[in-house]
Amino acid sequence: MKVPVSALEGCLASFIAADERRTKASTQFFADTGLMAMLCRHDHVLWLVNMTTAGERQYYALVLIKMLFMNLPLSMTVGILYDIGCQLERCCQIWGFLEEFMARILFALVVFHAYGHQWPCQLVYHPHKCEGFGLSDGEGCERFWSAIKLLIPSMRVAGFYHWLFTIDTQVKHLDKKSFDMMGKWLQRKWLTCLERKIEAEEILNELGFEISLLENEWKQQVAAQTKPLAQQSKNIAIIAIKEILALYTAKKSFATELGGLDDQLISGAYEDDMSVEDVLAACKAIMKKQGVIDANIKTKKKRLGVKDQDDLRKLMGNKFLQLKLNARALKQRLRDHLRNRKFELERLERAYQQTTSNETKLHSHVQKQINRQQPTIARLAKKYNDMCYDMTKQIQEGKASGNSIAPVPINQEHLFALDVDEHESEIIPGWLGNENICEGITAMLIAKRCAEEMARIKQERTALQEWSREEWEAINMAIVMCEDEDIEHQLVIRKSRHLSLCAQWREQVSLIPDTYPMLKGWGPDIKDMDSV
Ligand SMILES: [Zn+2]
Ligand SMILES: [Zn+2]
Repeated sequence: MKVPVSALEGCLASFIAADERRTKASTQFFADTGLMAMLCRHDHVLWLVNMTTAGERQYYALVLIKMLFMNLPLSMTVGILYDIGCQLERCCQIWGFLEEFMARILFALVVFHAYGHQWPCQLVYHPHKCEGFGLSDGEGCERFWSAIKLLIPSMRVAGFYHWLFTIDTQVKHLDKKSFDMMGKWLQRKWLTCLERKIEAEEILNELGFEISLLENEWKQQVAAQTKPLAQQSKNIAIIAIKEILALYTAKKSFATELGGLDDQLISGAYEDDMSVEDVLAACKAIMKKQGVIDANIKTKKKRLGVKDQDDLRKLMGNKFLQLKLNARALKQRLRDHLRNRKFELERLERAYQQTTSNETKLHSHVQKQINRQQPTIARLAKKYNDMCYDMTKQIQEGKASGNSIAPVPINQEHLFALDVDEHESEIIPGWLGNENICEGITAMLIAKRCAEEMARIKQERTALQEWSREEWEAINMAIVMCEDEDIEHQLVIRKSRHLSLCAQWREQVSLIPDTYPMLKGWGPDIKDMDSV
């Protein structure tokens, strides 16, 4: 699993809450409670399924994906953007769904819904942070719903087949409309992408970091922030002590081994196949390992707050130690939550500077999501403080060892101003402490997605032209071979429609270079296209 299970469960909980609200509203009206659609990145509907149980169940998504793969060549890899892509991938891994296709699927979240997911999940599944997704946002479904919304009132009183026919006709109409606009679509995508790329590159130039440095920092950030959060546990003290005891055992066995080697050196009687050099090298290796173990024991003991003379075994059941370690885990958890919140807030500030209506909508949406996490954080803080009071009490009652000090409770009023970058004697990594690196990482990710997007648009533009030329040839051929007057009339209409389409497309995509050298022309004569 790329994301800790605790984070995935957080995603699921917030999704279920949203889904329940929607389910309550919809089941009262429909026998079939709704539709689930699969669209390609050009917002064309590929397939629709009607859902006969309330709420979005995973199997509707699974059946759509299976259908897609049945229609694709075996070599194709597919990026799937889904509200709860993280949950779907987890399900597939646990239950073995879509097993034969999993190697060819990349799961990601829909951009607008990504903000409802836990931060570690966003790091891995946000399409703009994932390799290969370009600038696809997965919002096609939302646009599709708003285009068919107008059908709902009449559908409530329609029969099943009427319903099917209406939706089918509407989808065909939308497809035709967006097909005619394909040139415009490519042009718009190209210009937006170009703009964002320039913006990102300007930031990168200004900051002047090596891309490899940013890549490395990003890798570290993902690794650090997708680590499972520190857990409290009933056995936390026992586990920590057992770890130290195991290290002592290892240390002892190394000492025995070293003693044996020393004996060989003194007596000069080496074991078979060994020379003096071999024995010396073995000694050196063991001493190095001993050094590592010693250092390890020291840090672990320091973390426990145990002095050398304390008998570790006696501490096994110690309540105070238990409390102390759990409090530490809790504080770590709290700090991780606050840190994630800080990253989200920073993005929020950035989003606020962009003023398109879509971004504004996104802005208030993100704000809501972040606010929703505040109770969790406050609860953790309260729990931590309770632990601090408990520890103070135990010290007063003489249950802790002589020189123990209880940690200072957190001021809950100033909780969100808590310095989350306060590290205990660690070096603060760049992605966390250096604002420029943070900004650089964001810009680098955008620049990469833009490069992917541009490559894809070029490919699409080339495909459009090639298709157009083939279509033109086919229509002409059909007209020549046609013996029926009525059909010929239809073909001629089609020909003139294709001519005007070509004329539009050619002009609209003229900005976009093609990917590979191909035959020139769109099919029709340039003169004819110009005169349209
Ligand atoms: Zn498409
Ligand atoms: Zn998630």
